[in-house]
Amino acid sequence: MTDPGRESVIITGGGVIGSGIAFELAKRGVPVTLVERGRIGGEASWASAGVISLPSRPWVTPERVELGRVSLECYPSLVAELEERTGLAIDYRRPGEWVVAVDDEHAAAERAVASWQRGLGLDVEDVPPDVARKTEPALPESLLAAWFHPNVGSLSVYRLTQALAMAARQLGATVLEETPVGGLLREGNRVTGVRLQDRDIRADMTVLATGAWTRLLGDALGVTLPTKPVKGQLIAFANAPLRPACVVSGHGGYVRPRPDGTTMVAATEEDVGFDRRVTGDGVAWLLELTRTLCPVLLQGEVAETWTGLRPGSETGDPLIGPVPGFEGLWVSAGHFRTGAKEAPATAMLVAEALITGKTPPLLAVFSPAAQGINA
Ligand SMILES: Cc1cc2nc3c(=O)[nH]c(=O)nc-3n(C[C@H](O)[C@H](O)[C@H](O)COP(=O)(O)OP(=O)(O)OC[C@H]3O[C@@H](n4cnc5c(N)ncnc54)[C@H](O)[C@@H]3O)c2cc1C
Repeated sequence: MTDPGRESVIITGGGVIGSGIAFELAKRGVPVTLVERGRIGGEASWASAGVISLPSRPWVTPERVELGRVSLECYPSLVAELEERTGLAIDYRRPGEWVVAVDDEHAAAERAVASWQRGLGLDVEDVPPDVARKTEPALPESLLAAWFHPNVGSLSVYRLTQALAMAARQLGATVLEETPVGGLLREGNRVTGVRLQDRDIRADMTVLATGAWTRLLGDALGVTLPTKPVKGQLIAFANAPLRPACVVSGHGGYVRPRPDGTTMVAATEEDVGFDRRVTGDGVAWLLELTRTLCPVLLQGEVAETWTGLRPGSETGDPLIGPVPGFEGLWVSAGHFRTGAKEAPATAMLVAEALITGKTPPLLAVFSPAAQGINA
């Protein structure tokens, strides 16, 4: 695309990724249509725990770390802009995060992560357990080791997504809800738009931002876009005698206090297809995690349980870039556990790439071609 005044884009999928791209394109004057099968932000972006965390998996690529870093930098001004444009409260806060361990094995693993994070120049404080418990009385008595990340934040990913779509609409985008895309329109190897139930709509570029469902649209074209759903179950507590002021993470999960007074505990990681049930095993795992990280919450009421389908991929990395073998078709899906954190940078970089026709260096490694996907 060379002239944003004339070229048009259809974004399929109104989660935080698709809505973010729609907003960034609309802001740059590109005619954009966002097509969502259900309600904007109603899937993974609704279920999301919304923790805007530091990188915590030392095996991730430097580009993935950078995608998160750029997003973290964007968040304060993006939230301020969206709240001003839409009046929606996105509840972005940066209370910090406790990383905790209650046994030697987890303490050793977290120590290694903390040292890797320091190597990246991130702010990580070692805190003696007695000091940590004095500062955060909701931490467990059995605390063995603790670290504090002052820059970790949290937000409502659902409201962020709604605000992105609303702001995109105010800037001229067309936003279609309750509108499933049944397939892609083709002229030879060029994708020219999408097929809806009652009509076709056409554009110069179509972007698949369909989260865990992206593989289905790829299959219909004969190209494997290997996304898969990874189920997460969550629980929220209310009215416990104490709750943490910050995010608390460790032992494979995390606890997040929410502005409505409830505290969520997240999340299982299950490769069970599109199953969305809250199960006994899932709740048992969450209760055990609560006992480990913040046992005082168990004295409260269970306020809510829910599940969501993270957009996983074969590699754990997102697929972002042109779909091999086709013109006029991009994909941006598969952000897995950190899509909320990475949405702002993803959206800005995808918009820039679509407008200039040049893939920014940071995105190159995530392109389907670079990940070995062929038509
Ligand atoms: C339990 C859980 C906890 C999480 N916690 C965190 C966290 O703490 N921090 C973090 O950074 N990330 C977290 N994530 C991950 C993050 O929420 C996701 O990576 C992100 O929301 C993915 O956004 P998306 O837009 O790609 O997908 P989705 O939000 O799933 O959006 C995809 C959209 O595409 C639509 N769609 C699909 N097919 C079609 C079609 N044919 N036609 C039209 N529309 C279609 C769907 O209806 C859906 O709305 C969590 C996710 C879950 C599930």
